[in-house]
Amino acid sequence: MSTPTAPYPHLLEPLSLGRLTLRNRVVMGSMHTGLEDSALNLPKLGAYFAERARGGVGLIITGGYSPNKRGWLKPLASDMTSRLQAMRHREVTGAVHAEGGAIAMQVLHAGRYGYHPFSVSASSKKSPITPFRPSALSTKGVDQTVSDFARAVALAEKAGYDAVEIMGSEGYLVNQFLAARTNDRTDAWGGTAEKRMRFPVEIVRRTRELVGGDFPIVYRISLLDLVEDGQTWEEVVELAHLLEDAGVTVLNTGIGWHEARVPTIITQVPRNAWVDHTARLKAEVSVPVCASNRINTPEAAEEILASGKADLVSMARPLLADAHFVNKAAEGRADEINTCIACNQACLDHVFKNRSASCLVNPRACHETTLVLRPTRVKKSVAVVGAGPAGLAAAVSAAERGLAVTLFEKSDDIGGQFKLAMQVPGKEDFRDTLRYYRRRLEVLGVDVRLGTEATEALLSSYDDVVVATGVTPRIPSIPGVDHPRVLRYDEVLSGAVVPGRQVAVIGAGGIGVDMSVWLTHDPGETPDEWMAHWGVGDPSLHRGGLTEPKPRAPQREVTLVQRKATPIGIGLGKTSGWAHRAVLKQSEVRQIRGASYDLIEPTASGDRVRLHLTVDGVPEVVEVDHVVLCAGQESVRDLVAPGRTVIGGADVAAELDAKRAIKQGTEVAAAL
Ligand code: NAP
Ligand code: SF4
Repeated sequence: MSTPTAPYPHLLEPLSLGRLTLRNRVVMGSMHTGLEDSALNLPKLGAYFAERARGGVGLIITGGYSPNKRGWLKPLASDMTSRLQAMRHREVTGAVHAEGGAIAMQVLHAGRYGYHPFSVSASSKKSPITPFRPSALSTKGVDQTVSDFARAVALAEKAGYDAVEIMGSEGYLVNQFLAARTNDRTDAWGGTAEKRMRFPVEIVRRTRELVGGDFPIVYRISLLDLVEDGQTWEEVVELAHLLEDAGVTVLNTGIGWHEARVPTIITQVPRNAWVDHTARLKAEVSVPVCASNRINTPEAAEEILASGKADLVSMARPLLADAHFVNKAAEGRADEINTCIACNQACLDHVFKNRSASCLVNPRACHETTLVLRPTRVKKSVAVVGAGPAGLAAAVSAAERGLAVTLFEKSDDIGGQFKLAMQVPGKEDFRDTLRYYRRRLEVLGVDVRLGTEATEALLSSYDDVVVATGVTPRIPSIPGVDHPRVLRYDEVLSGAVVPGRQVAVIGAGGIGVDMSVWLTHDPGETPDEWMAHWGVGDPSLHRGGLTEPKPRAPQREVTLVQRKATPIGIGLGKTSGWAHRAVLKQSEVRQIRGASYDLIEPTASGDRVRLHLTVDGVPEVVEVDHVVLCAGQESVRDLVAPGRTVIGGADVAAELDAKRAIKQGTEVAAAL
């Protein structure tokens, strides 16, 4: 038991699970990183997990391993099907155990989400997010698949894993058996809710037979499918009881299928949004229950446990963002935690594009063996100019290596473009990134000179100079662009100017879309209203927890314009762009593409402006209170000189994003 004075007493309390005792209640939830898919990457995977074990996490759960080839996520993806594989995994389990950690392997059969022509499912129904139609498993095939699950678990035990997780949520094969949406079988594995439940229950029963009584089996149960013809709450509870009887040790929880059109984990989802459903399940069962999704601070996790809503808290991305999350919390250094901002940009977006995962705020994630911040042998002095994301990453990383760092920032605060981004609805978590950097600069003793313009004279005494002077908003050359009713995005997001009721936005990149959301959003939206806008209802009343979405009441009339003919927002993140595009639609943002900008002129009264466009050769006029420019940025390169390293937006403004800026800053510091 933790002492009463320890921070986060519930979070840090051990828990016994059969033969395994967890040192605390923090589970690093399963997340595919791409490293699982090749045996050659097992050392990297081991290093990645070992770093998290060293950071104090109670139980690590690996990305998904298929129990057979038909269950692959993509061709040649990870599976656990042979003794040879099991022996190779000892490198991973050994690395975690050497750091005092515990690790579970997740067994995941992709079913119809398999991105290959050999995929199988309960029925031959294609998913809306993959091009391949699955074959329906034969009755014998179902039976064999159940045995394959049990064998994969037995192999995991041989590989030294301390537990397993059976993936029963997010719309993968097990979930596909459970829902009438994807299971129209008429044999013993479908037809009624009871028969649809047989598949997961048999998997757990046969697994338990094979591995014995005290090997921990975690089952990830889908609380809300968030798809049509998903499960009812009563079915979820019934399944939980059957799984308990079959021998599960822990029920982990999942929300929403991958094909659901309700966001479940990205930044705009309210923190702890789904925890009440976990609490509802916990009241029904006697095994420990684990909460998950959109939990990213030790305070939130502690509150969930202290209020009795769950017994464990699963965080996947927050442990990518900071491997030492748990130790920092335990040592009273929670303000030094590098918080996951739920952007998905370097983790899930990478994985869905077949790239290995990393983290926007921690580019060392999954690169522990290649991006190393070694202690310096020579105590050089380094000047970093500019305290935006690139400069902050460079300054903190260089100071972590022991270099003497001075950070110059001409404004009176750190943050650069991040200070603007955190004003965007749903991007409030960016504040935590700045809190992290602020605190790390302090702890590491970086000489931070705010309100100081770096001059050649000031920089001349440093061994190394890193130029991270960032960007300035681009002013497109449109006649009339200098009218006072034409605003730059930074003026609006910083609160310097408040636009009127009708606004035209020029440029529909990431910032143009964010601006449109900012302009239309209701600042007082409560989590319940957020649920209502997305059509999330009580699963006891609505199958899958899905109900009719209630329209948003946009706060302004916005017209969003771009020159390209491609759909607006098409270049946004793979796993979050669809949600941003949906919000534009919900907020009735008028979208014009393929436009050229001819003129901005005041109306006769002078209190409005007219934006003259040509769209597909046809002239069009949009009359508004304000035009907001979101037409990209230009690099600020005044201090660029031979021998200096240039990073972030000062290096390349095009396609500037925080992911590249922070990665570049960290890499430069590693090489100084
Ligand atoms: P951006 O993504 O480059 O978009 C700027 C847009 O302005 C372009 O799409 C371009 O579209 C238009 N434009 C460029 N030059 C113009 C000109 N001379 N006249 C009129 N229009 C012009 O830049 P951003 O929106 O400023 O974003 C900056 C960075 O932050 C980007 O890397 C972005 O990905 C990142 N960011 C990402 C997110 C996200 O959700 N992931 C959110 C915010 C920002 P047309 O040429 O078609 O008009
Ligand atoms: Fe979190 Fe973004 Fe890092 Fe993914 S890339 S772990 S969402 S901060």
